[in-house]
Amino acid sequence: MRPEILFPLFAPVTSLKGVGPRVATMLEKIAGPSVVDLFWHLPVMMIDRRYAPSVADAPEGAIVTLEVRVDRHEKPHNRRSPYRVQCSDDTGFISLVFFSARDDYLRRILPEGQTRIVSGRVESYQGNKQITHPDHVVSVDKREKVEIVEPVYPMTGGLSAKVLGKAIAGALAQVPALDEWLDGPLVQQRGWPAWKTALESVHHPEEPTDLLPEAPARQRLAYDELLANQMALALVRRRMRQGRGRSIEGSGDLQAALENHLPYELTGAQRQAVDDITDDMATPKRMLRLLQGDVGSGKTVVAFMAALQAIEAGAQAVILAPTEILARQHLATLQPFCEALDVDIALLTGRDKGKSREAILSSVSDGTTQLLIGTHAVLEEDVRYHDLGLAVIDEQHRFGVNQRLALAAKGDNPVDILVMTATPIPRTLTLTAYGEMDVSRLMEKPAGRQPIDTRAMPDSRLDDVMAAVSRAINQGAQIFWVCPLVEESDALPVTAVEDRHRSLVAQFGEERIGLVHGRMKGADKDAQMQAFQAGEKSILVATTVVEVGVDVPNASIMVIEHAERFGLAQLHQLRGRIGRGAEKSTCLLLYDPDISETAKARLKVIRDTEDGFVIAEEDLRLRGAGELLGTRQSGLPAFRLVNLEAHAELLPMAHDDVALILEKDPDLQTPRGKAIRTLLYLFQRDEAIRFLGSG
Ligand code: ADP
Ligand code: MG
Repeated sequence: MRPEILFPLFAPVTSLKGVGPRVATMLEKIAGPSVVDLFWHLPVMMIDRRYAPSVADAPEGAIVTLEVRVDRHEKPHNRRSPYRVQCSDDTGFISLVFFSARDDYLRRILPEGQTRIVSGRVESYQGNKQITHPDHVVSVDKREKVEIVEPVYPMTGGLSAKVLGKAIAGALAQVPALDEWLDGPLVQQRGWPAWKTALESVHHPEEPTDLLPEAPARQRLAYDELLANQMALALVRRRMRQGRGRSIEGSGDLQAALENHLPYELTGAQRQAVDDITDDMATPKRMLRLLQGDVGSGKTVVAFMAALQAIEAGAQAVILAPTEILARQHLATLQPFCEALDVDIALLTGRDKGKSREAILSSVSDGTTQLLIGTHAVLEEDVRYHDLGLAVIDEQHRFGVNQRLALAAKGDNPVDILVMTATPIPRTLTLTAYGEMDVSRLMEKPAGRQPIDTRAMPDSRLDDVMAAVSRAINQGAQIFWVCPLVEESDALPVTAVEDRHRSLVAQFGEERIGLVHGRMKGADKDAQMQAFQAGEKSILVATTVVEVGVDVPNASIMVIEHAERFGLAQLHQLRGRIGRGAEKSTCLLLYDPDISETAKARLKVIRDTEDGFVIAEEDLRLRGAGELLGTRQSGLPAFRLVNLEAHAELLPMAHDDVALILEKDPDLQTPRGKAIRTLLYLFQRDEAIRFLGSG
């Protein structure tokens, strides 16, 4: 249960004064639905209105707050000229300028003969000073409300700065004083403010440096968030390791037999990963291992070796793939080996219904099936295993901690878990997303790979591309042609996959062009994929469904349209589909020439390197962690206050901090432990609290 003291923070924003449903919708768009989300919506700039010179001293271009006498209203002579209010002080004259304003309103806020405080930017017009549309006009007794530093927040259309400012002020008025969850000496050594003070100060910057991520208040809040993140992962890890583990020791027979059948030798990195896994599985502790390896680094065979160890020990293994296409491909890859090794393999996907599904389920529950390949369907309630020993999640960033937990709950004994991820995550991020796991990395690629020739070109050169494609397919090449996914509502001028398919069919004929996209029926997708894999189709037009792991060694060319619309990690994944065979491969990135400099820089990164880790680091640098983490596709946690570049040093600190806390106070029962529970609720990491005793 969420502590009562936090209730007002998790109330909807409409609980704040002045926030109705219309404003709430906009607040939700920029910050989130609850009061607490407004806390985390931090200013990006500030306007310093503390400079209050005399009119004569007010410099052109500066933001100033002036005390002036209202001398005279001058109505415009015609529609186009503005309404002017002439003002002065003892040192000089200045006019306030308003376009299409209502004069009764202006007369009310600026009555002739009275003194007013006005704030805005000073301009010069025909040798005279003026302020166009002053930001503030108030009476003298409200001077303190204006002569301040005003925070500027990220906005959305239709929401005024005033309304947002009020909502945030309203939210801040609800900030409770919470017991300190940070270590006293740490706070002191760093010079960090208390939580409540920190929150108030980030929303009231005084100096430009207060807006930097290194500012003490911002650092403190970022550390809080990292601590919550690391604590949640540590609790998940502890939970998953709890209880009597099981030791899965294989004879090594099946593994040795597989190595004899493989047409290649395992790389050093693959062998190291297999050794790590063999050791983990043999110990009675539950395995929780992340296998990190770039596209094409050969993770599948490592997973298969692990599965064989479980099978040697008489247990079952399951390999969970993110998409149906990939599950089928795993089956196609592994089936011949399974036949040779006399291992019983089966596939279960959402498409299996009725009798066929029942047959698979019963072969899984009676233990006939030794290796099950599947999609999410293998997580469903009614899938019971005879004796599940190992679960492999080929996650490609589509499963999160919760799915890992669901899978872990299967089987009577704690199941060993191997998570495979292909999108290389910068080192710093690994800890935030997989802090609960041990890590093996496949840094080295199988030998004999040829570098891919990657070129970026404006889409005006489509005709040249078509000509080159035509030559290539006449020489027997196979081509992936990727178009961005288009939503029906999407107004952007992007070539839809179906349009492209039509135009390629018109040019090269129906029988040579395949098509796959997410909205097709599963069976149709398979048929198209298989035809392409079998070499019956020359070009496969596709959306990003081919991104995940599809293996067609003969495909040597990839065309990506509107490459600027894809993330770097995604482009890297896509390109990883080629360059797998002996043939030299080419990747053509077509872009809209109207793109930003950053977008161009991003395409250059892809062109210049094939190293997924370099690409990930560059992506992080160019986009900032916030965005990288914000994308749901990444599967990484979204941070609100952490800037992983600027706050990188805080992450290992939080990691160690958590280890120390749990060692001294495993159930978070001390006063600090209880404060940390509140912290977990505050950052909505409460699923982890279920793993603690009550208290
Ligand atoms: P990923 O890590 O992207 O899942 P795969 O497991 O699909 O990579 O492997 C990519 C390709 O590399 C496959 O065609 C596979 O047969 C091949 N491969 C894997 N290991 C080796 C190796 N040690 N030597 C040569 N080829 C290998
Ligand atoms: Mg793979």
